[in-house]
Amino acid sequence: MLFYENHRETVLSRVRARRVKLLAGMTALGLCLTLTALIPEPVSATAVYREAGATVDSDLVEAVAITVDGVHAATVDSVETAQALLAQIKRGYETPATESVAFRESVELLPCLASPECVMAPADAGALLDPENTASPAALTVLTLATVTREEDVPFETETVLIPDQYADETSLTRSGVNGRAVNTYSVIYRNGQEELATLTDSETLTAPVNEIVTRGALPGSRYDSRGVYIWPTTGVLTSKFGGRKISIGSSNHKGIDIGNAAGTKVVAADGGQVIFAGKNGGYGNFVAILHDSGAVTRYAHMRKILVEVGQRVAQGQPIGEMGRTGTATGNHLHFEILPDGETWVDPVSLLTGELQRH
Ligand SMILES: [Zn+2]
Repeated sequence: MLFYENHRETVLSRVRARRVKLLAGMTALGLCLTLTALIPEPVSATAVYREAGATVDSDLVEAVAITVDGVHAATVDSVETAQALLAQIKRGYETPATESVAFRESVELLPCLASPECVMAPADAGALLDPENTASPAALTVLTLATVTREEDVPFETETVLIPDQYADETSLTRSGVNGRAVNTYSVIYRNGQEELATLTDSETLTAPVNEIVTRGALPGSRYDSRGVYIWPTTGVLTSKFGGRKISIGSSNHKGIDIGNAAGTKVVAADGGQVIFAGKNGGYGNFVAILHDSGAVTRYAHMRKILVEVGQRVAQGQPIGEMGRTGTATGNHLHFEILPDGETWVDPVSLLTGELQRH
């Protein structure tokens, strides 16, 4: 009452100013709502209009407007009818587990004056407010809250152990992970009966998960990448140098170096790369060529056995064959060539790193 007493003149002047609309029946509803928003109960709408000197149409009846987020949605005959209607809509979404229920929208009941034909039957008003009535702009949203308990998996985590002298593409599964089980308690919010948000409030572990352990190389890149340096491709003794040399008849330009050792001595890739030839190649016998990332090519000849295939990527130091004497060779040795640009032979000794080991 105090609010009305304090703002009496303001309210009354608004009613006077809009009296014409008030008498226009349905249109009057907009005015009623404006007024009632300023008039706390139990002041009746009729009394205020009378005090304002407005001629209250004898056909108008006191009613209750239901507003949704401040917008008029429906008009019913009494506060009791409106409250029963709203309670019925809420009950439609309650279950035995429901702890509380509310509308997402702000819903207000405002006393007003309305033409009798504007006062709706409860069922008609209910249809406008029905949460399932997606065509109605006044459709309400019912939020319910319940506590739900579920037995669920507890996903395992993966721990990665870095191996300092391996490359990133070298991984292995050290231990498989196993999910655990837990009884989880959630505070669940449902929107029109559909779960919308579940917040974990309690968890009781039944079995703890076993984390997965994976090892991975710490060095960036792949073990098959070219390092840009060449290691000796085998062990033994340097039996023939690169370049001009005398042979029994005339002379020959030796395109590589020869390393002699026992048949079967391991031959390895001088650097990482891709095998572009693996097989018999005339006087070279069993022959392998590797293309490196820079475009350089290394070539390996006279082998007893080839251990790689064309297209395969190999790591620096990876065995690619065994020393032999296939093709044009007078003893067991590896004939080895380096073509830094893929086309021109240079002395491998000038590019090889470290010393040739005898064994
Ligand atoms: Zn040779």
